[in-house]
Amino acid sequence: MKAVYFEEHGGPEVLETGDFDDPIIGPGEILIDVKAASLNHLDIFVRRGLPGIRLPLPHITGSDAAGVVGGVGDGAAGIAVGDRVLVNPTLSCGRCEFCIRGDASLCRSFKIVGEQTQGTCCEKIVVPHDNVIPIPNSLSFEDAAAVPLVFLTAWRMLITRAHLRPSEDVLILGAAAGVGTACIQIAKVTGARVLAAASSDEKLELCRSLGADVLINYAKEDLVKKVRNETGKRGVDVCVDYIGKDTWTKSLQSVAKGGRLVTCGATTGYDPKTDLRHIFFRQLEVIGSTMGSKNELLAPLSLILDGKMRPVVGKVFHFEQTEEAHRLMESRKLSGKIVIRVADND
Ligand SMILES: [Zn+2]
Repeated sequence: MKAVYFEEHGGPEVLETGDFDDPIIGPGEILIDVKAASLNHLDIFVRRGLPGIRLPLPHITGSDAAGVVGGVGDGAAGIAVGDRVLVNPTLSCGRCEFCIRGDASLCRSFKIVGEQTQGTCCEKIVVPHDNVIPIPNSLSFEDAAAVPLVFLTAWRMLITRAHLRPSEDVLILGAAAGVGTACIQIAKVTGARVLAAASSDEKLELCRSLGADVLINYAKEDLVKKVRNETGKRGVDVCVDYIGKDTWTKSLQSVAKGGRLVTCGATTGYDPKTDLRHIFFRQLEVIGSTMGSKNELLAPLSLILDGKMRPVVGKVFHFEQTEEAHRLMESRKLSGKIVIRVADND
C-alpha cells in the first residue's frame, strides 16, 4: 500500500510518500480501506519526536480516518465488508478500573492511533473492532475524517470534565482551530454563551458563523480587558486554553471567581508562569483533559448527523501533498481542519 511516513524525526521535510507493507488483520480487528484522513497538532508533535516515547521507525502519521471496511478479523461482530466507517483514535484495554467507569483516556494502557501505533495517512489501516463506528451515506468521508479526535476531545473537555451548563459564559482560545470549532458548537448546543478568541478577523468570522456570541481578536485587543467588559467585570465561568504558554496567564485572569480553566494541550509551550494567588484566592479549578471515550465521540457524532453541528474542513489536500499540509498546520494560519484525500470517493 501507499503511506505517508517518516524514517527520522524532524520538520515536514522528513515526510515521505511511498510503499509500505499492508497491515495484517488479527482476531477482533477490522481492516479499513482509508478514503480520507485528517491532521491534528498531535501529528506534528509525533513527527518532531515526543520525549519519553520511542517509536519504531518508519512511522506512518495521522490519528483520524474514515473509509470502507475491507476485511473483518475472527470474532469481530457487527461490522461487515463494505460498511462506511470512521475510526475512534482512542485505544484502551476496556477492562481496567478507568475503562470500566467510562474514562478510556485514563486507561492504564492508553494509546492513540498514529501516536504509539501506525497512523492513518495510508491506504489501509487495522484497528480493534470497538474503534470502528459506522457512518451513513449522508456524511462524506472527508467530513467524517474531520470529526473524531477534535470532537471527542472537545466533548470530554467541556461536558465531562468542565461540566459546562446552560447560561454559563465560556471563553474559547484558538477558537478557529479544529478543537476550537468543535468547542464553539458544543457550547452553543449546551446553551452557553460563547466568547471566541482568535488571532485574525477572518478566523473570527468563521467563529461567528458557528454561533459564537462575542468575538475577540487577541492580536489587536487586550483579551482580559475585553472579557471583563463583556461579562460585567465578572470574568467567564469556563475558559478553554490549549494554546499554553502564550495565553495561560491571561486565561487565569479571564476566569470568574470559582470558575474553571480547562486545558487539553499546549501548542505554544507547556511551561507557562502561573501566579498561584489567582488559583487559591479566587478559588479556581484547573482541569486537565485529554482525548476521550467512545461515548464522548458518539454524542457529538449524533448531533452532527442531526444537523445540529458540523465538522469544519478548512482545506483538503491530496495524499501526495501531506508535507505541504503539515507546513500549513504548523503555520497556524488556517481555520478548521486539514483533510488528506487518500483515495477518490466512491
Ligand atoms: Zn483500560
